[in-house]
Amino acid sequence: MDKSLRRPVIAGNWKMNNTPAQAKALIEEMKPLVANADCEVVLCVPYIDLYAAMEAAQGSNIKIGAENCHWAEKGAFTGEISAEMLKAAGVPYVIIGHSERRQYFGETDETVRDRVRAALDAGLKVILCVGEVLSERKLGITSEIVCKQTKVALSGVKAEELANIIIAYEPVWAIGTGETATPEQANEVCKIIRELIADLYSKADADRFVIQYGGSMNDGNAAELLAQYDVDGGLIGGASLKADKFAVIVDAASK
Ligand code: PEP
Repeated sequence: MDKSLRRPVIAGNWKMNNTPAQAKALIEEMKPLVANADCEVVLCVPYIDLYAAMEAAQGSNIKIGAENCHWAEKGAFTGEISAEMLKAAGVPYVIIGHSERRQYFGETDETVRDRVRAALDAGLKVILCVGEVLSERKLGITSEIVCKQTKVALSGVKAEELANIIIAYEPVWAIGTGETATPEQANEVCKIIRELIADLYSKADADRFVIQYGGSMNDGNAAELLAQYDVDGGLIGGASLKADKFAVIVDAASK
């Protein structure tokens, strides 16, 4: 299978940054810089920024996503946003299971699974995050952790739904720390995930499946990480807040 048959996805994760006005200004700055991208370009933004971001991105090749969604369609869940609401608002993408949600907001493999199900049912494209913490890597159980997170999240996902889901492998120790996995470490785990997809579904499904790396990817290290056979893009936190840095990463994925 030729890696180039998988279209890379470069997705920004703004986390809790940017007001609607700042979102608009940043996207206006990014638009011309990424206009010729030969990859999917996504910006996942805070809920409050979604409308401003979609308006600013209209007519461009930038797609907008949310950073989470609830598993229920509606109901007594104060402060939450459902997948149905995102869909109705015209939002195409959503991140689910980001390590910061797992770490600070009690997200479990099971709630991630339920959110994935709701997002797919609503017709959203899912960026599912998995990854080990440093102590798990040190114990040599990275593969077990990542495979368990993936298996639980995908339980109930049918083969024909795989086109609407991508996985971001994000070692937690590399997120926001400036410490990046080596290209070999990133590829090794992305490959393990691809082999798991082949086991759970089929080799053909695995060959088509997009797997990103995330964790301090930036304008300086993106080219080497993205050149790895099993790395099909990136989920970018800090560097997605700067138009010029994000554009360099998009360029690297377009090669
Ligand atoms: C992320 O938020 O998913 C991420 C990878 O952040 P950073 O690029 O800042 O490490």
